[in-house]
Amino acid sequence: MHRITLGDFELSVFSDGTYPLDGGAFFGVIPKVMWSKKVAADENNYCTAGLNSLLIRTGKENVLVETGMGNKLSERMRKFYRQPAQLLENLSAAGISPEDIDIVINSHLHFDHCGWNTVRDKNGKIVPTFPKAKYYAPEGEWQYARKPSDRDAISYIPDNYDPLVESGQMTLLKGGEEIVPGISVRTFRGHTASMQGIIVQSPSGAKAPLSPGAVGTAEAVPFPRPFVPTACYISDLMPTTAHIDVSWGMAFDLYPLDTIASKKEYYARSIPEKWLTVFTHDPKVPWAYIEKEESGKMVAREAE
Ligand SMILES: [Zn+2]
Repeated sequence: MHRITLGDFELSVFSDGTYPLDGGAFFGVIPKVMWSKKVAADENNYCTAGLNSLLIRTGKENVLVETGMGNKLSERMRKFYRQPAQLLENLSAAGISPEDIDIVINSHLHFDHCGWNTVRDKNGKIVPTFPKAKYYAPEGEWQYARKPSDRDAISYIPDNYDPLVESGQMTLLKGGEEIVPGISVRTFRGHTASMQGIIVQSPSGAKAPLSPGAVGTAEAVPFPRPFVPTACYISDLMPTTAHIDVSWGMAFDLYPLDTIASKKEYYARSIPEKWLTVFTHDPKVPWAYIEKEESGKMVAREAE
């Protein structure tokens, strides 16, 4: 069980399980002779990918970031991914029921990030898994998901979000909003055009003024205050500790050059301020502090 205290907040990681992912898709243009030193692959070239959700207990709310792959996959997708579907069991083992979740945030709407947003009830109707929760997702993702490209149409399953948008239970975000005090979102373009990182800073930290946004960012939304203990669920911008080098992106990324620019923008703040980075798909190390050695090599130092 991974748990850490961040100011007044308690952060813990809950997994929806692991699934096989093609090594070539996972590491894009990086040759296998290089990535296989970091990550093992089986005889079919499949690596093991994790599905990490982050639970933030603020003292007032239970906030769940990302909901894994869920239990609604089609037969065809089940053959590929085996539908691990362990998130609710793992939450329950820690004494957390679906009714206890007050807020759900999706970084983007690919099926492996919002699968447990909804379930089918006994009549086959799609209903929210977390009945009392307010859901949040990037508006640009939802717009794109209505008309995705042929390349990634398979990654969008409307049952994961459309019923929530229609009922008003899901709020769509532009990027830059603070959802509750200390928990905000910021757009990091690259994997998709509108994917958002979730930035967590306990409001009990120092009340320093807002700093200006990083140079060259697409939006003029400032990062939250500097030098307060901070964690960031950076999602598919760097899905595992093996992806922390700026040029190690996934083949899935729609805008690979923007992935590099967004990683640099993230590191410009996260490294000097020692942010805890949460990795969505790392099966072993769900969070770590990313550091840059003098040689320029990026290293992930595990949290104690
Ligand atoms: Zn994705």
